Amino acid sequence: MASQNQNHTIVIKVGGGEGIDPTALTSEIAELVNAGIRIVLVHGGSHETNELARSLGHPPRTITSPSGNQSRRTDRQTLDIFKMVYCGKVNKTVVEDLRQSGVDAIGLSGIDAGIWIGSRKSAIRAVEDGRTVLIRDDLSGKVESVDAEFLNMLLDSGRTPVLTPPAITADGIAINVDADRAAAATAKALGADELLLLSNVPGLLRDHTDPDSLISTVDEHSLQEAQQAAKGRMKNKVLAAQEAIEGGVARVVIGSAGGESPIQHARAGAGTCFVQGVAS
Ligand code: ADP
Repeated sequence: MASQNQNHTIVIKVGGGEGIDPTALTSEIAELVNAGIRIVLVHGGSHETNELARSLGHPPRTITSPSGNQSRRTDRQTLDIFKMVYCGKVNKTVVEDLRQSGVDAIGLSGIDAGIWIGSRKSAIRAVEDGRTVLIRDDLSGKVESVDAEFLNMLLDSGRTPVLTPPAITADGIAINVDADRAAAATAKALGADELLLLSNVPGLLRDHTDPDSLISTVDEHSLQEAQQAAKGRMKNKVLAAQEAIEGGVARVVIGSAGGESPIQHARAGAGTCFVQGVAS
């Protein structure tokens, strides 16, 4: 079994929204790793970051771009809180849990060893009270390159990397990056076979208020419909899926992190499957 799966690589991203418990994936990850499949787990931590930020008296703020994309306003204090939750509590809890199940997990942020090198946005256009303003001091950006050689070294030695934002710029500034798109860049760099984006919704919904309106498959013909259906932070997931598919990942699924066996279900096609042939 192990030799059959030797080169099969799956990048799994589990969200950090309310009600998502990344440790619920532990037993399935252990089974896959025992079967010889190479797993890279990427996690978020948005809900817990919001909670801690509120309790520290520095409540979360959202930036909305003129095109409607939403991101976290990341000033210096927010980035510090972000690191406490993502790199601290969430990352180490996930690693602790995986290790209890016999997985040789290693928890790293994109900062460590420069795994995720990114560029910082020098100025962000944001809509505030109906007006477009420029924000110049935000510590956020986008992953531009992934150290696949380092990740392969870990995977080749039987380790399971557990990765989390922030990323880091080439000159050493930590930046908040979208974890879905970082997972997509990682899947692309590793030549992964599958990317699973698991969240608190069953997949991409045609109408985000109606859980029965699931879009089950997205190809080049339905990409525009998928982009239009995605609101708020779901836009980044659709973008991530598109970037991974264009980067050669054969299959991307946006699916649920909840319920019984969420990984198995997503791999079997429960959720929204993006398949090769998606063009921009
Ligand atoms: P995570 O933290 O798990 O990465 P996000 O909160 O970033 O997840 O994104 C998932 C959210 O996107 C859902 O909870 C939902 O409120 C929102 N959303 C917006 N548009 C859609 C849509 N068309 N289909 C599904 N969810 C959507």
